[in-house]
Amino acid sequence: MSIHHHPSESVLTAYASGALADGPSLACAIHLDACAQCRAAVAAMEAVGGVLLDELSDAPLDAQALDLMLARIERPPPSPVRRRAAPDPRAFTNGLPRALKERRIGPRRFVLPGMWVAQVRSNAPDRWRTYLLHAGQGQRLLEHDHRGPEMTVILSGAFRDALGVYRAGDFVEANAGGSHRPAVEGDEACLCLISAEGGVKVEGLARLLQPYLQV
Ligand SMILES: [Zn+2]
Repeated sequence: MSIHHHPSESVLTAYASGALADGPSLACAIHLDACAQCRAAVAAMEAVGGVLLDELSDAPLDAQALDLMLARIERPPPSPVRRRAAPDPRAFTNGLPRALKERRIGPRRFVLPGMWVAQVRSNAPDRWRTYLLHAGQGQRLLEHDHRGPEMTVILSGAFRDALGVYRAGDFVEANAGGSHRPAVEGDEACLCLISAEGGVKVEGLARLLQPYLQV
C-alpha cells in the first residue's frame, strides 16, 4: 500500500499525548495501522513525552538516572491498550481494520443504491460525528460543507476532490468552509471513515436526508 497523505504533525502530537477526541483518534489509529512512517513518529513522541514526565517528577539527574533516561529513549515505554497491538498486516486488505473491529457500528442508511453511511458509536460521546461512508464506482458524494474540522481515512478504493486523489490508508484533514463534492475514483467502490466536529452540512435538496443519515 502506498500512502501519500498523512495526519499533520499537530494531529499526531495530539494523538500521541491522548488529547485527540475519540473519532479523530480512531481515524488516526486506522492510518497508523497502515503507515510505518507515522507509527515511528508517534513512538518517538511518546518516548519524548515519557522522558519529560520523568524529568518533571524526578529528583535531579544523577549518572544512573541519565542511563535510565537514555534506555527509555531507545526503548519507548509501552503504549496504552488501544495502541499496543502490533499492526495487523491484513489491515485494509481483508475486511475492516483492527481498530474498527472493536467498535459498535450502526445500521447502514442508504442515500442512493450503492451509497450508504453507518454511524460508528463513540467510546466517549462528544461533538464529533464519526461514520463509515461507502460509495459505488463513479459515484459523486453529496455536496456538503463542514461545520468544523473533518478527518477522513480511506479504507478501500479511492476518491478525488479538487485537491487530489486519496487512496487506501491516506488521511485527509479538512476545515470548516468551502463546500465540496468528492467523487469516487477508479474502477472500484470507495469505503472511508469520516469524523467531523459538529457533523457536516449537506447542501441542496439532499439536506432533507440529513436527519435520517445522522451525519
Ligand atoms: Zn502516515
